[in-house]
Amino acid sequence: MQGTVTKSMGLWYLVEGQDGTNYQCRLKGKFKLEDKKISNPVAVGDKVELLEDEGNAEAWIISDILPRENYIIRTSPKKKGHGHIIASNIDLAVIVATVANPKTSLGFIDRFLVTAEAFRIPGMILCNKIDLLSGEELEALKEKMKEYEVLGYKTAFISALDAKDIASFKKSLSDQTTLISGHSGVGKSTLVNQLIPEADQKTSEISEFSEKGIHTTTFAERFKVAENSYIIDTPGIKELGLAEIEKDELSHYFPELRELLGQCKFNNCTHTHEPGCAIATAYEQGEISQSRYDSYLSMLIGDDNRR
Ligand code: GDP
Ligand code: ZN
Repeated sequence: MQGTVTKSMGLWYLVEGQDGTNYQCRLKGKFKLEDKKISNPVAVGDKVELLEDEGNAEAWIISDILPRENYIIRTSPKKKGHGHIIASNIDLAVIVATVANPKTSLGFIDRFLVTAEAFRIPGMILCNKIDLLSGEELEALKEKMKEYEVLGYKTAFISALDAKDIASFKKSLSDQTTLISGHSGVGKSTLVNQLIPEADQKTSEISEFSEKGIHTTTFAERFKVAENSYIIDTPGIKELGLAEIEKDELSHYFPELRELLGQCKFNNCTHTHEPGCAIATAYEQGEISQSRYDSYLSMLIGDDNRR
Protein backbone atom coordinates (compact mmCIF):
# COMPACT_ATOMS: atom_id res chain seq x y z
CA MET A 1 0.00 0.00 0.00
CA GLN A 2 1.11 3.57 -0.63
CA GLY A 3 0.75 6.47 1.72
CA THR A 4 2.05 9.92 2.58
CA VAL A 5 4.09 10.83 5.64
CA THR A 6 2.18 13.30 7.78
CA LYS A 7 4.46 13.51 10.79
CA SER A 8 7.87 12.35 11.82
CA MET A 9 8.65 11.48 15.43
CA GLY A 10 12.18 10.27 15.86
CA LEU A 11 12.25 6.68 14.70
CA TRP A 12 8.51 6.57 14.13
CA TYR A 13 6.45 8.08 11.35
CA LEU A 14 2.77 8.70 10.96
CA VAL A 15 1.62 7.83 7.46
CA GLU A 16 -1.78 8.41 5.92
CA GLY A 17 -2.49 5.37 3.79
CA GLN A 18 -4.41 5.41 0.54
CA ASP A 19 -7.36 4.08 2.51
CA GLY A 20 -7.40 7.27 4.60
CA THR A 21 -6.21 5.52 7.78
CA ASN A 22 -3.23 6.78 9.75
CA TYR A 23 -0.52 4.16 10.26
CA GLN A 24 2.33 4.13 12.72
CA CYS A 25 5.40 3.13 10.79
CA ARG A 26 9.06 2.40 11.15
CA LEU A 27 11.75 2.43 8.54
CA LYS A 28 13.40 -0.51 6.95
CA GLY A 29 17.07 -0.35 7.88
CA LYS A 30 18.56 0.34 4.45
CA PHE A 31 17.26 3.91 4.24
CA LYS A 32 19.24 4.99 7.23
CA LEU A 33 22.43 4.90 5.23
CA GLU A 34 21.48 6.31 1.87
CA ASP A 35 22.53 9.94 1.73
CA LYS A 36 24.99 10.81 4.45
CA LYS A 37 24.49 14.53 3.93
CA ILE A 38 20.83 14.39 4.84
CA SER A 39 20.14 13.72 8.50
CA ASN A 40 16.59 12.39 7.98
CA PRO A 41 15.86 9.69 5.42
CA VAL A 42 12.09 10.31 5.41
CA ALA A 43 10.30 13.66 5.57
CA VAL A 44 6.75 14.96 5.91
CA GLY A 45 5.11 14.89 2.49
CA ASP A 46 7.08 11.87 1.26
CA LYS A 47 5.08 9.33 -0.70
CA VAL A 48 6.01 5.93 0.64
CA GLU A 49 5.35 2.25 0.14
CA LEU A 50 4.11 0.41 3.24
CA LEU A 51 4.40 -3.23 4.27
CA GLU A 52 2.89 -4.93 7.26
CA ASP A 53 5.43 -5.66 9.97
CA GLU A 54 5.26 -9.43 10.35
CA GLY A 55 6.54 -9.35 13.89
CA ASN A 56 4.09 -6.71 15.10
CA ALA A 57 0.48 -6.59 14.01
CA GLU A 58 0.06 -2.93 14.92
CA ALA A 59 3.11 -1.56 13.21
CA TRP A 60 3.90 -1.00 9.57
CA ILE A 61 7.16 -0.65 7.75
CA ILE A 62 8.15 1.98 5.21
CA SER A 63 9.78 -0.17 2.56
CA ASP A 64 10.32 2.40 -0.17
CA ILE A 65 10.22 6.14 -0.81
CA LEU A 66 8.91 7.38 -4.12
CA PRO A 67 10.93 10.04 -5.93
CA ARG A 68 10.30 13.52 -4.51
CA GLU A 69 8.96 16.22 -6.81
CA ASN A 70 10.65 18.83 -4.68
CA TYR A 71 11.64 19.38 -1.08
CA ILE A 72 12.75 22.07 1.25
CA ILE A 73 15.85 21.53 3.27
CA ARG A 74 17.26 23.22 6.32
CA THR A 75 20.99 23.34 5.88
CA SER A 76 23.22 22.77 8.83
CA PRO A 77 24.93 25.94 10.05
CA LYS A 78 27.96 23.85 11.02
CA LYS A 79 28.46 21.49 8.11
CA LYS A 80 28.26 22.93 4.62
CA GLY A 81 26.24 20.79 2.25
CA HIS A 82 24.58 18.90 5.11
CA GLY A 83 21.00 19.34 6.15
CA HIS A 84 17.59 18.15 7.17
CA ILE A 85 14.62 17.80 4.82
CA ILE A 86 11.72 19.70 6.34
CA ALA A 87 9.01 18.70 3.87
CA SER A 88 8.57 17.37 0.35
CA ASN A 89 6.13 17.22 -2.57
CA ILE A 90 4.82 20.74 -2.07
CA ASP A 91 2.56 22.33 -4.68
CA LEU A 92 2.51 25.84 -3.26
CA ALA A 93 4.57 27.72 -0.66
CA VAL A 94 2.62 30.48 1.06
CA ILE A 95 4.16 33.27 3.06
CA VAL A 96 1.74 34.91 5.44
CA ALA A 97 2.61 38.61 5.56
CA THR A 98 1.24 41.62 7.40
CA VAL A 99 1.63 45.33 6.86
CA ALA A 100 1.34 46.08 10.57
CA ASN A 101 1.51 44.22 13.90
CA PRO A 102 4.10 43.00 12.92
CA LYS A 103 5.36 44.49 9.67
CA THR A 104 6.71 41.97 7.19
CA SER A 105 9.44 43.56 5.09
CA LEU A 106 9.52 43.24 1.33
CA GLY A 107 13.06 41.96 1.70
CA PHE A 108 11.80 39.06 3.80
CA ILE A 109 9.07 38.29 1.26
CA ASP A 110 11.56 38.39 -1.59
CA ARG A 111 13.95 36.09 0.19
CA PHE A 112 11.10 33.64 0.74
CA LEU A 113 10.11 33.74 -2.93
CA VAL A 114 13.71 33.35 -4.08
CA THR A 115 14.09 30.32 -1.84
CA ALA A 116 10.84 28.86 -3.16
CA GLU A 117 12.13 29.37 -6.71
CA ALA A 118 15.36 27.62 -5.82
CA PHE A 119 13.36 24.66 -4.48
CA ARG A 120 11.12 24.78 -7.61
CA ILE A 121 7.95 25.47 -5.64
CA PRO A 122 5.40 28.07 -6.79
CA GLY A 123 5.14 30.91 -4.25
CA MET A 124 2.20 32.87 -2.93
CA ILE A 125 1.92 35.94 -0.70
CA LEU A 126 -1.04 35.85 1.66
CA CYS A 127 -1.60 39.30 3.16
CA ASN A 128 -3.32 38.87 6.51
CA LYS A 129 -4.86 41.30 9.03
CA ILE A 130 -6.34 43.53 6.35
CA ASP A 131 -9.03 44.47 8.88
CA LEU A 132 -6.36 46.64 10.52
CA LEU A 133 -5.82 48.70 7.36
CA SER A 134 -7.62 51.80 6.17
CA GLY A 135 -9.16 51.72 2.72
CA GLU A 136 -6.22 53.69 1.41
CA GLU A 137 -3.64 51.42 3.00
CA LEU A 138 -5.34 48.37 1.55
CA GLU A 139 -5.34 49.95 -1.91
CA ALA A 140 -1.63 50.75 -1.61
CA LEU A 141 -0.94 47.15 -0.55
CA LYS A 142 -2.90 45.75 -3.48
CA GLU A 143 -1.03 48.07 -5.82
CA LYS A 144 2.32 46.81 -4.51
CA MET A 145 1.20 43.19 -4.75
CA LYS A 146 0.33 43.67 -8.43
CA GLU A 147 4.07 43.78 -9.06
CA TYR A 148 4.27 40.25 -7.70
CA GLU A 149 1.26 39.01 -9.63
CA VAL A 150 2.91 40.17 -12.85
CA LEU A 151 5.89 38.00 -11.90
CA GLY A 152 3.64 34.96 -11.58
CA TYR A 153 3.09 34.87 -7.81
CA LYS A 154 -0.41 34.48 -6.46
CA THR A 155 -1.53 36.97 -3.85
CA ALA A 156 -4.56 37.16 -1.57
CA PHE A 157 -5.84 39.58 1.03
CA ILE A 158 -7.59 38.27 4.08
CA SER A 159 -8.37 38.64 7.72
CA ALA A 160 -7.92 35.34 9.50
CA LEU A 161 -10.66 36.50 11.88
CA ASP A 162 -13.19 36.67 9.04
CA ALA A 163 -14.96 33.38 8.28
CA LYS A 164 -15.74 34.39 4.71
CA ASP A 165 -12.10 35.15 3.96
CA ILE A 166 -11.06 31.83 5.45
CA ALA A 167 -13.63 29.99 3.35
CA SER A 168 -12.42 31.54 0.12
CA PHE A 169 -8.77 30.94 0.95
CA LYS A 170 -9.63 27.35 1.83
CA LYS A 171 -11.27 26.92 -1.55
CA SER A 172 -8.12 28.10 -3.29
CA LEU A 173 -6.20 25.26 -1.60
CA SER A 174 -8.15 22.42 -3.20
CA ASP A 175 -6.34 19.52 -4.80
CA GLN A 176 -2.93 20.52 -3.59
CA THR A 177 -0.46 20.42 -0.74
CA THR A 178 0.36 23.88 0.54
CA LEU A 179 3.17 24.81 2.84
CA ILE A 180 2.42 27.74 5.14
CA SER A 181 5.15 29.88 6.60
CA GLY A 182 5.57 33.31 8.13
CA HIS A 183 7.09 35.44 10.89
CA SER A 184 5.63 34.87 14.31
CA GLY A 185 2.70 37.13 15.06
CA VAL A 186 1.37 37.33 11.49
CA GLY A 187 -1.56 35.06 12.37
CA LYS A 188 -0.32 31.75 11.01
CA SER A 189 -1.65 29.67 13.90
CA THR A 190 -4.99 31.45 13.79
CA LEU A 191 -5.19 30.65 10.10
CA VAL A 192 -4.08 27.03 10.40
CA ASN A 193 -6.56 26.41 13.22
CA GLN A 194 -9.37 27.85 11.12
CA LEU A 195 -8.43 25.75 8.12
CA ILE A 196 -8.31 22.43 9.88
CA PRO A 197 -11.75 21.17 10.82
CA GLU A 198 -10.51 19.09 13.75
CA ALA A 199 -7.37 20.83 14.89
CA ASP A 200 -6.48 17.94 17.17
CA GLN A 201 -7.31 15.24 14.65
CA LYS A 202 -4.13 13.32 15.29
CA THR A 203 -3.58 13.89 18.97
CA SER A 204 -4.53 10.41 20.19
CA GLU A 205 -1.80 8.68 18.27
CA ILE A 206 0.74 11.31 19.10
CA SER A 207 0.17 11.07 22.83
CA GLU A 208 0.60 7.31 22.62
CA PHE A 209 4.05 7.85 21.25
CA SER A 210 4.84 10.39 23.93
CA GLU A 211 3.94 7.95 26.68
CA LYS A 212 6.58 5.62 25.38
CA GLY A 213 9.03 8.43 25.92
CA ILE A 214 9.80 8.91 22.27
CA HIS A 215 11.12 12.27 21.23
CA THR A 216 8.25 14.17 19.65
CA THR A 217 9.87 17.37 18.46
CA THR A 218 8.89 17.91 14.86
CA PHE A 219 9.69 20.44 12.23
CA ALA A 220 6.65 20.00 10.07
CA GLU A 221 3.27 18.35 10.07
CA ARG A 222 0.76 17.72 7.32
CA PHE A 223 -2.93 18.36 8.00
CA LYS A 224 -5.93 17.50 5.90
CA VAL A 225 -7.98 20.57 5.05
CA ALA A 226 -10.46 18.76 2.81
CA GLU A 227 -10.45 15.71 0.55
CA ASN A 228 -7.22 15.88 -1.45
CA SER A 229 -6.28 19.22 0.08
CA TYR A 230 -3.50 19.47 2.64
CA ILE A 231 -1.45 22.02 4.43
CA ILE A 232 1.99 21.53 5.84
CA ASP A 233 2.63 23.63 8.88
CA THR A 234 6.20 24.32 9.89
CA PRO A 235 6.12 25.54 13.48
CA GLY A 236 9.13 27.53 14.47
CA ILE A 237 10.37 27.86 10.93
CA LYS A 238 9.86 31.38 9.69
CA GLU A 239 12.04 30.93 6.67
CA LEU A 240 11.57 28.38 3.96
CA GLY A 241 14.62 26.44 4.98
CA LEU A 242 17.84 27.94 3.79
CA ALA A 243 18.76 26.97 0.28
CA GLU A 244 22.45 27.24 -0.38
CA ILE A 245 22.19 29.58 -3.29
CA GLU A 246 25.42 30.41 -5.05
CA LYS A 247 25.78 34.11 -5.83
CA ASP A 248 26.09 33.53 -9.55
CA GLU A 249 22.78 31.63 -9.48
CA LEU A 250 20.82 34.22 -7.53
CA SER A 251 19.48 36.10 -10.54
CA HIS A 252 17.92 32.86 -11.85
CA TYR A 253 15.50 32.95 -8.94
CA PHE A 254 14.13 36.43 -9.67
CA PRO A 255 11.75 35.84 -12.62
CA GLU A 256 12.17 39.39 -13.93
CA LEU A 257 15.96 39.08 -13.89
CA ARG A 258 15.93 35.54 -15.22
CA GLU A 259 14.21 36.58 -18.42
CA LEU A 260 16.98 39.08 -19.19
CA LEU A 261 19.90 36.77 -18.51
CA GLY A 262 21.93 36.21 -21.61
CA GLN A 263 21.38 39.80 -22.73
CA CYS A 264 24.14 41.26 -20.58
CA LYS A 265 27.45 42.03 -22.29
CA PHE A 266 29.45 39.84 -19.92
CA ASN A 267 28.27 36.36 -19.22
CA ASN A 268 29.56 36.54 -15.65
CA CYS A 269 27.71 39.84 -15.08
CA THR A 270 26.63 40.39 -11.46
CA HIS A 271 24.19 43.11 -12.59
CA THR A 272 25.66 45.63 -10.19
CA HIS A 273 28.18 47.86 -11.99
CA GLU A 274 29.11 46.21 -15.28
CA PRO A 275 28.76 48.06 -18.58
CA GLY A 276 26.22 46.65 -21.01
CA CYS A 277 24.10 45.11 -18.24
CA ALA A 278 20.58 44.42 -19.51
CA ILE A 279 19.24 44.22 -15.96
CA ALA A 280 20.68 47.60 -14.92
CA THR A 281 19.11 49.09 -18.04
CA ALA A 282 15.73 47.54 -17.29
CA TYR A 283 15.98 48.83 -13.72
CA GLU A 284 16.83 52.35 -14.89
CA GLN A 285 13.86 52.25 -17.21
CA GLY A 286 11.59 51.28 -14.32
CA GLU A 287 10.89 47.78 -15.62
CA ILE A 288 12.33 46.20 -12.50
CA SER A 289 11.02 47.58 -9.22
CA GLN A 290 13.27 49.38 -6.78
CA SER A 291 12.40 47.05 -3.91
CA ARG A 292 13.06 43.89 -5.92
CA TYR A 293 16.38 45.19 -7.20
CA ASP A 294 17.30 46.20 -3.63
CA SER A 295 16.43 42.69 -2.45
CA TYR A 296 18.63 41.23 -5.18
CA LEU A 297 21.56 43.40 -4.08
CA SER A 298 21.03 42.62 -0.39
CA MET A 299 20.96 38.91 -1.03
CA LEU A 300 23.97 39.18 -3.31
CA ILE A 301 26.11 40.86 -0.69
CA GLY A 302 24.53 38.76 2.05
CA ASP A 303 23.28 41.48 4.39
CA ASP A 304 19.62 40.56 4.11
CA ASN A 305 19.61 38.37 7.22
CA ARG A 306 19.26 41.39 9.45
CA ARG A 307 15.89 42.44 8.08
P1 GDP B 1 1.43 33.36 14.63
O1 GDP B 1 2.54 33.69 15.56
O2 GDP B 1 1.75 33.76 13.23
O3 GDP B 1 0.96 31.96 14.72
O4 GDP B 1 0.22 34.34 15.03
P2 GDP B 1 -1.11 34.06 15.84
O5 GDP B 1 -2.06 33.25 15.04
O6 GDP B 1 -0.77 33.60 17.20
O7 GDP B 1 -1.71 35.53 15.88
C1 GDP B 1 -1.05 36.61 16.53
C2 GDP B 1 -2.11 37.62 16.97
O8 GDP B 1 -2.71 38.21 15.84
C3 GDP B 1 -3.23 36.99 17.76
O9 GDP B 1 -3.58 37.87 18.78
C4 GDP B 1 -4.36 36.85 16.74
O10 GDP B 1 -5.63 36.88 17.32
C5 GDP B 1 -4.12 38.07 15.88
N1 GDP B 1 -4.62 37.93 14.51
C6 GDP B 1 -4.46 36.87 13.68
N2 GDP B 1 -5.05 37.12 12.50
C7 GDP B 1 -5.60 38.36 12.59
C8 GDP B 1 -6.33 39.18 11.67
O11 GDP B 1 -6.60 38.84 10.52
N3 GDP B 1 -6.68 40.42 12.13
C9 GDP B 1 -6.39 40.86 13.39
N4 GDP B 1 -6.79 42.06 13.74
N5 GDP B 1 -5.70 40.09 14.25
C10 GDP B 1 -5.32 38.88 13.87
ZN1 ZN C 1 23.90 42.19 -16.00
